[in-house]
Amino acid sequence: MDNEIGRTIHILDPITVTKIAAGEVVERPGSVVKELVENSIDAHAGTIRIEIKSSKSVIADIRVVDDGIGMTPHDAILAFTPHATSKIHTISDLNSISTLGFRGEALASIASVSKVTLWTKTHGNNSGAGTRLYIESGIIQDTSEVGTPEGTNILVQDLFYNTPVRRKFLKKLNTEITHIVSTVESIALAHPEIGFKLIHNGNELLTTERSSNLLNTIIRIFGNEFVRDLIPIDLSTPFMSVSGYISKPSLFRKNLSHMLIAINGRIISSPSINMAILKGYGTLLPKERFPVTFLYLTIDTTLVDVNVHPTKKQVRMNREQEICSAVQESISAALLKSDLIPAVQFRVPNNIKLITKSLSDKEQFIHRSISDYISIGPTHTGSSTSDRQLRQTELLTGILPDQSLIPEMDVIGQFGGIYILASTIEGTLILIDQHAAHERVMYELVSVQDESIRQSQELITPKTLHRTGKDAAILHDLLPSLANEGFLIEEFGKNTFLVRAIPVVLGRLEQTEVINDIIDDLIQEEPLRSVSYREKITRIIACRSAIKAGTACTGEQCQRLIQQLRKTKNPYTCPHGRPTMIRFSRQQLDFMFKRT
Ligand code: ADP
Ligand code: MG
Repeated sequence: MDNEIGRTIHILDPITVTKIAAGEVVERPGSVVKELVENSIDAHAGTIRIEIKSSKSVIADIRVVDDGIGMTPHDAILAFTPHATSKIHTISDLNSISTLGFRGEALASIASVSKVTLWTKTHGNNSGAGTRLYIESGIIQDTSEVGTPEGTNILVQDLFYNTPVRRKFLKKLNTEITHIVSTVESIALAHPEIGFKLIHNGNELLTTERSSNLLNTIIRIFGNEFVRDLIPIDLSTPFMSVSGYISKPSLFRKNLSHMLIAINGRIISSPSINMAILKGYGTLLPKERFPVTFLYLTIDTTLVDVNVHPTKKQVRMNREQEICSAVQESISAALLKSDLIPAVQFRVPNNIKLITKSLSDKEQFIHRSISDYISIGPTHTGSSTSDRQLRQTELLTGILPDQSLIPEMDVIGQFGGIYILASTIEGTLILIDQHAAHERVMYELVSVQDESIRQSQELITPKTLHRTGKDAAILHDLLPSLANEGFLIEEFGKNTFLVRAIPVVLGRLEQTEVINDIIDDLIQEEPLRSVSYREKITRIIACRSAIKAGTACTGEQCQRLIQQLRKTKNPYTCPHGRPTMIRFSRQQLDFMFKRT
């Protein structure tokens, strides 16, 4: 016989089939937790307890206990058979899934690669006995009637004991535990109406209470600090609704790890919704920074196909475009509605000693030099550049003064040629970054000029650009887009270009070196946030034409800038997402000076 090299075909026995299939559902301990907890949620549990025990740096036990509907003895036995589910009956039920599970493979898969004990009793069966099952390698070894509380208690031991390769690929204990914690955290956030408890070797790692208010769950997991920087979102369309919380632009992360998206109670990952979220923030976030979101979409179940992958994290959406626009819209609307001026964040240590001694020379010097920097009133001459730049943006026709998102302000002075100090009627002190603020004004001015081709002005003497071969190739491809934006550039021999005209919005360009810088900026790639060339060029134009940091401005000029900023649709950040202003409230100042 040639059996060893597989000459004869045979059909695998069902247990082997399930064990192979288990690889897809049960990748690691965290996947067991996810599947069991999802079953508890589908069983309408009000509280779910997850207990992990580890010894010798491997996870030994995973136990999930719920107070859900429980199972009859008959159902309990059936539940471990592959493709046994109570959640769908026919293929058409797949079109409108409202439960987390439906494939009927989790329990069978888990039982095929571990030793499982189950205790369960149906809801409302106070007096009757419950059922206990013991299953090893997918085969029920023992069934008995036992006393047990209503609900279901599943204990999974020796995970992967019969699949040594998979066992070998488990990560360090800490990594697996972290994965379990984050799995439970996301599920708890998606289901604030359920109380969760996660315990590892007797230590409580996470507790959430049953609550109708998502904020309570967020506070339990991330703390109070976090919540201060969140704003609610809320939008409905005929076939879906969006709710939850998103971070103000002052709170962000370096990656997408804090962007939680749930569709109909299921945590999902979706690049297109991620993109919609980022578009909703537009220019409010710095480059390559990501918001914190708790986004809950309730979508007509017939529009969402969750049967894409065994772990059900990916979904296919009908009308994806509309869903994404609704997400984007809900986010930008919420951001525009709220006060986004970041407050100064100062933490005065409790144990600070009041300084009573007289100021040292050095301290006196610091004091003097600070006051030297603050200029009050129109003390500056030679500010024609800034005047011209400000005049340009006078054209901005935006929000009416009484509808402005930021308050009226009186200029106190300018500090360091960069920051404008101003006070509001309510008595808060505002520091404005003059460059960032003017950049925002320029940006909105330039973006409303929506003619398909931007006006350009010819340079009296064309400027020659020499670039390296690589840059030249990129620039060559960019020429048509640049022409649309008002840059008329011609190729002029190898790796050389001639700039004949530039956009009118750039104003009179005294130093043509700026053009080189602009081209540099354009050629540079922005890998994570891909924006259109028009958008890129608009941002660059805004940046290049705005008043520079270090330009002295008179009080009157500062006041004009604030007026212009008040007309913008989004006065809070520059087009790159940096804040335009920071607020010091009277209370914060009093606190910092220990007056309270
Ligand atoms: P699925 O969740 O896809 O239906 P599972 O293998 O996860 O498949 O579970 C099989 C069935 O066992 C479920 O359909 C459900 O009827 C029952 N079941 C599993 N876990 C529980 C539980 N915690 N409480 C009540 N019933 C459960
Ligand atoms: Mg399930």
